[in-house]
Amino acid sequence: MSSIYNCPHCGKKSFNPWKKAMAGQLNSPGKVCMECGQKCVNGRGATIFNAVFSVICLALVVFIYLKSQSFWGTEFEWIAFYEVPLLVGVILLKFIVPRLVNAFFFRLEPAIRIDSVK
Ligand SMILES: [Zn+2]
Repeated sequence: MSSIYNCPHCGKKSFNPWKKAMAGQLNSPGKVCMECGQKCVNGRGATIFNAVFSVICLALVVFIYLKSQSFWGTEFEWIAFYEVPLLVGVILLKFIVPRLVNAFFFRLEPAIRIDSVK
């Protein structure tokens, strides 16, 4: 049975959720497969999700900042009060959510970065 934890090089189930989360996306160096020693990363799906999620987080940060500055009026004054926790929360999400998604969704693919390919 092929699962998302199978190595794309040798086909063995050499990854677990933690290792897969740490493998990063197409633009990262990747993690070495325990079975064949070749590097794997989370594939296109994970990379696209990450890019989209990063943009959403950035938009949220800008939104919270502008609202807390009363940029568009004072009806969202409560945001100013929670500005720091909200910003910290969004930044934490930005780091945690993609790793969770990498751990439990999408397939592994061979690493494509030049410095990952021997
Ligand atoms: Zn392998």
